[in-house]
Amino acid sequence: DSAALQALDRSHHLHPFTDLQNHAEQGGRIVNRAEHIYIYDTDGQRMLDGMSGLWCCNLGYSQPQIAEAVYRQLQELPYYNNFFKCANQPAVELARALVEVTPAQFNHVFFTNSGSEANDTNIRLVHRYFDLLGKPEKKLFISRKNAYHGSTIASSSLGGMDGMHKQTRGLDYVHHINQPHWFANGGELSPDEYGLQVAGELEAKIQQLGEDKVAAFIAEPVQGAGGVIIPPDSYWPEIQRICDAYDILLIADEVICGFGRTGKWFGSETYGIKPQLMTFAKAVTNGYMPLGGVMVGDQVAKVLLAGGGEFTHGLTYSGHPASCAAALATLDILRSTNIIEHAAEHIAPYFQGRLREFEQHPLVAQVRGQGMFAALELVADKSSRKRLAPDSAGAIYCRDRANKNGLMVRQTGDAMIMAPPLICNREEIDILIEKLAIALDETAVHYQI
Ligand code: PLP
Repeated sequence: DSAALQALDRSHHLHPFTDLQNHAEQGGRIVNRAEHIYIYDTDGQRMLDGMSGLWCCNLGYSQPQIAEAVYRQLQELPYYNNFFKCANQPAVELARALVEVTPAQFNHVFFTNSGSEANDTNIRLVHRYFDLLGKPEKKLFISRKNAYHGSTIASSSLGGMDGMHKQTRGLDYVHHINQPHWFANGGELSPDEYGLQVAGELEAKIQQLGEDKVAAFIAEPVQGAGGVIIPPDSYWPEIQRICDAYDILLIADEVICGFGRTGKWFGSETYGIKPQLMTFAKAVTNGYMPLGGVMVGDQVAKVLLAGGGEFTHGLTYSGHPASCAAALATLDILRSTNIIEHAAEHIAPYFQGRLREFEQHPLVAQVRGQGMFAALELVADKSSRKRLAPDSAGAIYCRDRANKNGLMVRQTGDAMIMAPPLICNREEIDILIEKLAIALDETAVHYQI
């Protein structure tokens, strides 16, 4: 029964990204069923999943083709590794399918179980690449503040989240510049002026650290967990120019943006950038199985393949057959239904349009979004931008009200975050908007705005 499960959870389960003391005292929700775009908890509450799980279930929860592919694969070959020179059929077929759907420069893939491990893999790949080129001093990475690139020590160092750095200490070869957050930091500048200014921080950082020492710049096309930070139009062309000019590898972390979230298959395509390495995970299996990896562009692959000597990196489950079977089925659905193109053309504009209605709401100072994700910046007063409450308590309150009313959304800082499944129809978007409006109104009443 629900209370017994919750008691067990409180007693024995250490949750990720959770205040452990608070959870041990108060417990939480146990989700035990999902259908289409809804999740259900053991208390019988149904919630519209406005976050696609953790930005991964882009096709929602009712895709029997994926589940059946996993089951069939587990009966045929439940496991064998891809170490040394072995391979399994789903891993090989998935490698080809990923090459087909990713931008043209990508013809090779390295599989991991997660986005975090994939970003760790990027570090090894980049270091090996420059070692093989005879430039071992090119070791430094530049990333962006408030970025989330994973939870391992190395990937969280690439990330720029203050809290994680305080708890782990970052690697000394990772440096950070500002995120292109015009609403927070743009001041009197236009978005394009600000985009150029903040992109210019990359050039300044390279010059400060030394062109011969900086190896790579890593970023999400749209920073997701950092607050759905939509870059000004001027930002990415300038970043691309700088990377090209200084021989810096560009790594696009597409763990959230990939597989349709921004309107095209990959965020790199939405923003017209040409990364040499690309991290993926999450929606590649529609969240059904753990799988991540790095797409390795021709420039890097050529050097690795000509290098000789072992690439000393790998995971027991790199290219796990059941995970690869799940990904193959997912890609098959994405391709055969054209759901990415359909959502971009028919659902995303409606979703973004309905969200813009919140610009009239007294708490909402900015609505931003791209494709099927978006953020609302909450304030107590629009002209002074006074915060609702310290420590993001206002947005946390709003999130909790939405959750209570049957809408799963998230909060980052003072922003409310939405990333619904791409399979939503307009009526379901209307339900999401309606529930969000109620949460915003309840928040306004709570803070007497
Ligand atoms: N990179 C980005 C942009 C992410 O959003 C995440 C997870 O949210 C990761 C990497 C880490 O992926 P994983 O949780 O699969 O390790």
